[in-house]
Amino acid sequence: MTTKETLPPRLTTTAGAPVADNQNSLTAGLRGPVLMQDWQLIEKLAHQNRERIPERVVHAKGWGAHGVLRITGDISHLTCAAALQPGAETPMIARFSTVAGEMGAADHERDVRGFALKFYTQEGNWDLVGNNTPVFFVRDPMKFPDFIHTQKRHPRTNLRSTTAMWDFWSLTPESLHQVTMLFSDRGLPVSPVHMNGYGSHAYSLWTSGGARVWVKFHFKTRQGHRHYTNAEAREVVGRTREGYQEALFGAIEAGEFPQWTVQVQIMTQPQAEAFPFNPFDLTKVWPHAEFPPIEIGVLELNRNPDNYFTEIEQLAFSPSNVVRGIGHSPDRMLQGRIFSYADAHRYRLGTHYEALPVNRPRCPVHHYHKDGAMRFFENATNPDAYYEPNSFDGPRQDPSFAEPLLDLQGPAGRFDHRDSIDDFTQPRALFLLFDQAQKARLFDNIAESMRGVPADIAERQIGLFQQVHPEFGAGVCAALDELDPQF
Ligand code: NDP
Repeated sequence: MTTKETLPPRLTTTAGAPVADNQNSLTAGLRGPVLMQDWQLIEKLAHQNRERIPERVVHAKGWGAHGVLRITGDISHLTCAAALQPGAETPMIARFSTVAGEMGAADHERDVRGFALKFYTQEGNWDLVGNNTPVFFVRDPMKFPDFIHTQKRHPRTNLRSTTAMWDFWSLTPESLHQVTMLFSDRGLPVSPVHMNGYGSHAYSLWTSGGARVWVKFHFKTRQGHRHYTNAEAREVVGRTREGYQEALFGAIEAGEFPQWTVQVQIMTQPQAEAFPFNPFDLTKVWPHAEFPPIEIGVLELNRNPDNYFTEIEQLAFSPSNVVRGIGHSPDRMLQGRIFSYADAHRYRLGTHYEALPVNRPRCPVHHYHKDGAMRFFENATNPDAYYEPNSFDGPRQDPSFAEPLLDLQGPAGRFDHRDSIDDFTQPRALFLLFDQAQKARLFDNIAESMRGVPADIAERQIGLFQQVHPEFGAGVCAALDELDPQF
């Protein structure tokens, strides 16, 4: 028998007034028109019109879950970051994504995957906004909008253009490393839990004593690497366009919590100066032999969001969010992203996006930013202290949180970032890791994508593959010939 306590809640308007009839509009008689004074109807229709916000320009399609970072190693001699101390357990949330597709894109497309993490530390939110690859297509943020234009739709045809993609890549030799990864097996993971994550950029770790080292973060899947071939992915997409959401949500609902081993690579300043490549170049890795990965913990995802929109769509990451003990590096792409990410959220979500429940730090927040659209949170301090300095016990700076100095002196100028740079050695090292079957799939994947692009563009790109390794250039040529003997 239904008791009063178990009755469903009473329906109200957004202003809290109980609704007597949610079935019939207010009309003039049984057959007459709707009256404009039907404020209940207007509220419903107006809300529906506003149910969408701008999707992200990149990384629009995403899947996420809550979890925890557990630190099992000891790098306390390198950093005072609370979340990286031995035994620390920090709540976090992850969002995985494809880069190019829109919100309705199929999950199983060949693309780089975003691997973005927000750690709710005791001393503020730390965001590590990485990918499933350790490198990127460009090293200078000046080229990022151009690169993304090539991944998005052509202005006239409104179709994605492989001509634009290969034109840009063939004119951008620093993209070779990432292009090789993208068209290798790892360019099409079976699900978000079957891929690695990489912080990608160099960051820094620092101690309260003022010592700083450079660091790269890696998250190695414990579920094993699993990938689809293009043909397998086509078959899967024919059945479901939401395979990643199904896999991630389903695994966590079933209590199969995915885990990643957390590793860091450490580079000292003298090592950075002696390194043959610019260690802050996002198109390069730090070789494991020289900078061995150190295991420091485990990342586990163990709770699905209750509301996709509020917890994943409104989830806002920014590499600007670092905390005591973790700093940035001279990586230019990182600096571009420090601006771009927060700027994108101010546009998509509004000025006060960091006060939204999923973005809100789990530690006290005291700032002097004042009003603006959707300023919905309470004054945290004495309302007379709305400027600084003040005599009303308003929040004060704490010099014990000061980051050690970063020596970045040099003449300002627009230096040619391609001048005397070796873009071939590291893609070659990757290519030589592949066995014959992996190489054959790499050639086929590239040829399938390159098919139909103008011959001069294809030839320019093959010239670059040739410089990585003669077998690479010849393999792509042979695969193209097989697809299209006229090529
Ligand atoms: P190692 O042999 O020590 O490391 C090779 C790395 O390559 C491993 O981490 C492995 O990942 C990863 N790998 C294997 N297959 C692929 C693939 N298809 N796509 C992307 N990564 C793959 O050599 P080095 O450190 O000297 O690096 C050699 C090359 O390996 C680099 O030029 C780079 O292209 C690639 N690589 C290097 C990384 C690094 O941080 N040093 C990280 C990732 C790739 P896993 O451990 O998961 O098997």
